[in-house]
This record gives sequence, structure tokens and C-alpha cells, in this order.
Amino acid sequence: MDFELSEDLRMIQATARKLADEEIAPRAAQVDEHKIFPMETMKKLAELGFLGFLVPEKYGGSGLGNLALVTALEEVNRACASTGVTMSVHNSLVCSPIVRFGNEAQKQKYLPRLAKGELLGAYSLTEPCSGSDAAALMTSARREGDTWVLNGTKNFVTTGSYADVLIVFVRTNPDLALKAKGVSAFLVEKTFPGFKAGKPEDKCGIRGSDTSSLFLEDCRVPAENLLGEEGKGFNIAMDTLDGGRIGIATQSLGIAQACLDAARKYARDRKQFGKPIGDFQAIQWKQAEMATELEAARLLVQRAAILRDQGRPHAKEAAMAKLAASTMANRAAKEAVQIHGGVGYTRDFPVERYFRDVRITELYEGTTEIQHLVIARHLLKGGK
Ligand SMILES: Cc1cc2nc3c(=O)[nH]c(=O)nc-3n(C[C@H](O)[C@H](O)[C@H](O)COP(=O)(O)OP(=O)(O)OC[C@H]3O[C@@H](n4cnc5c(N)ncnc54)[C@H](O)[C@@H]3O)c2cc1C
Repeated sequence: MDFELSEDLRMIQATARKLADEEIAPRAAQVDEHKIFPMETMKKLAELGFLGFLVPEKYGGSGLGNLALVTALEEVNRACASTGVTMSVHNSLVCSPIVRFGNEAQKQKYLPRLAKGELLGAYSLTEPCSGSDAAALMTSARREGDTWVLNGTKNFVTTGSYADVLIVFVRTNPDLALKAKGVSAFLVEKTFPGFKAGKPEDKCGIRGSDTSSLFLEDCRVPAENLLGEEGKGFNIAMDTLDGGRIGIATQSLGIAQACLDAARKYARDRKQFGKPIGDFQAIQWKQAEMATELEAARLLVQRAAILRDQGRPHAKEAAMAKLAASTMANRAAKEAVQIHGGVGYTRDFPVERYFRDVRITELYEGTTEIQHLVIARHLLKGGK
């Protein structure tokens, strides 16, 4: 057992850290304030190979895997959580399921361009009436010759207005009683007739990330764009979320690290009662707890990433990583604002943005309650 990153991973970390510090962080406040989708940064991430971590070399990626992805992704999220989630979704929710479930033609058609950032990806499971209960989705697909015709409304799609290719989960069997068994996954291109993205949401945090509805009105999808087998889409959705949760747990690490860095600096600079507030034990303990909880969560995230890379069971471990990391990061953001006192509540200091951004980590890719449910189900099944 070795807790050090390998030399290759340290290089990836250093490259990501440089980009994060020099180019992403300086723009993050603007991205947030003006809701700027980080398209330029996505191009830079693509140039560094950061959009193809999960794509094998054969299809134009680096194939370095989830541990490499989380190492870079934490740094990006430390600088800008809007950019971080866009990168996470592209890698974990789009490239990964095509690699794991796509046929050869689909891999050749989409993966090289996704890895190069020529195409951006999105993942669309949620609908207005089905969030946590994703298997209750209603968007339908009926077969007409060599085409599937999709009808329905999806919502809360990260990168929904900007994505070129979207993994869309729909009901290919109209019998609602079948629930998960009636669901299939399709690769939908934004140029397919009948596809329309709606107005982006005006959010509390991660404001530079695009979150849009989709309207599918007799949207015609070639039969060859069925991803995996008909009726097996829900398994694809859940396997994909196991990976995605490791990404959101990593987003939590990045935001928490930013909170700790900001709090440490402010505690050194700010003087009250004739000395730096960092000299007071109450402020020291807050930082000690933030640092300890952050390191514990990072180990859970790395373990889940390694298990996924090794092809071993990791659904429970991914849920644990997301639960622990998102809970920790929300606490860290609260304490970072507290250490800043009144100025922490103003836009003059970045902790105000971290405090808004971090809230989403307990909501998407399965709420905190759903992570408890997943973990408890595994425990009740008698696993370790
Ligand atoms: C910014 C943003 C980006 C998103 N991006 C995407 C995306 O890219 N693709 C996508 O498909 N979706 C996306 N989502 C959707 C997100 O995953 C859902 O919002 C989330 O899964 C929760 O679903 P819901 O909002 O319908 O809440 P609900 O399911 O209605 O839940 C409401 C509350 O009830 C609780 N609850 C529900 N069921 C249970 C239960 N069985 N036990 C205990 N408590 C329960 C929940 O935990 C929550 O507290 C995004 C959402 C947001 C806000």
C-alpha cells in the first residue's frame, strides 16, 4: 500500500495546477458573475488531453483512467467549479459509457472527437417528474423502420445547450409498470431533426456551467445510435453514475481545498485584539478539522477511482466517496465564510462563491439521501 501519487500522476497534477492557477482561477469570478460557459478553457483542457482520460489510446484518448482524471479534476475544481463540472460530465458521463457500452462503430465515430474536444458531451436522465426516481422517466421512443422517434421533455442537463452529442435515456417499452426494464439509451446529436435545447437555468452556484432542458419532438434517431442493448439503458445510466459520483466527489475536494487555502491566508492576514485571528485556538481548530476531513475524503475518492480502474465493484465506494466529500465540502465552505467574518459574505472574497458553488455537490448525480440509500442497500445485501 502506497499513499504517494506516482511520478506520472504528479506530473498531471502539476500541469493541471499550473493551468488552474494561471488561467482558470483568474477568470472564475467573471465566469460566475456573467454566467460565461467556459468554452475557451474546455479547448485548453482538450489540448492537454484532459478530455480523454477515460478514452483508450486506440480511440485518441490517453486511457490513463479515473485516478488520473480525479487528480487533474480536483485542481480544475479548486479554481472554478463551473469548469470542473463541465469537464467531469464530459469525461465520466459521456466518454465513459461509450467506452464501456458502445459498439465498435460508435466508438470510432464519437470517441476520437470527444477526446480532442471537437465534440462536447452531455448526459440526460432527469425529467420534470423523475429525479431521484429516475426509472419513472416518461420520454418515449417508438421504432419506425431504421429510426427511433423520441418524444418528451428532459431537464437539468449539464452542458445541454452546448453539447454536440448527448446520451439520452428514454422508454422504448411504453409499459410504465416495467420501470427500469423499459429504458434504453441513445446517442443523440444536436443536429438530429426534432431536437431542441431550452433556456438555461439561472442557478445559485456553478453559474458558468450550462444547465438546460431538452425538448424532443418527433426527434428522429438512427437505430444504429442505440447505446448498448434495448431495455438495458437503466443499467448503463447507473453504471455511468457510479463513475460520475467519483467526479462530483472530486469537485467537492477541489472546492474544499480552495476554502481551506482561502481561510488559512485570511487567518494570517486579519488582525483582531492585536493579533492575527489565526492565533486564536477557535480559528486553528476549524482549520485542523477542515484539513483532516478533506484528507479523509480524498482517500475515499482515490480508492473509488482505483476500484473503477481495476474493474472491481465500486458502487458503494463511489457513493461513500460522494457522501463523505460533499458533506465535508459543504462544512468547509461554511467554516471558510465564518473565518472571513462579514467580508466572507461579500463578493469581494471568493469564499462567497465557494459557498454557493458547493451546495450543488449534495444534489446532483444522486442527492445525499440517495447516496445513503445506495450504501445502505449494499450493506443490507450482506456486502462488507
Ligand atoms: C445544476 C444541476 C445540474 C444537473 N445536471 C444533470 C445532468 O447533467 N443530467 C441529468 O440527468 N440530471 C442532472 N441534474 C438533475 C439532478 O441529478 C437531480 O436534480 C437530482 O437527482 C435530484 O432529483 P430532483 O431534483 O428531481 O429531486 P427529487 O427526486 O424530487 O428529491 C427531492 C428531495 O426528496 C429526497 N428524496 C427523494 N427520494 C427519496 C428517497 N427514496 N428517500 C429519501 N429521500 C428522498 C431527495 O433526496 C431530495 O432531498 C442536475 C441538477 C442540477 C440542479
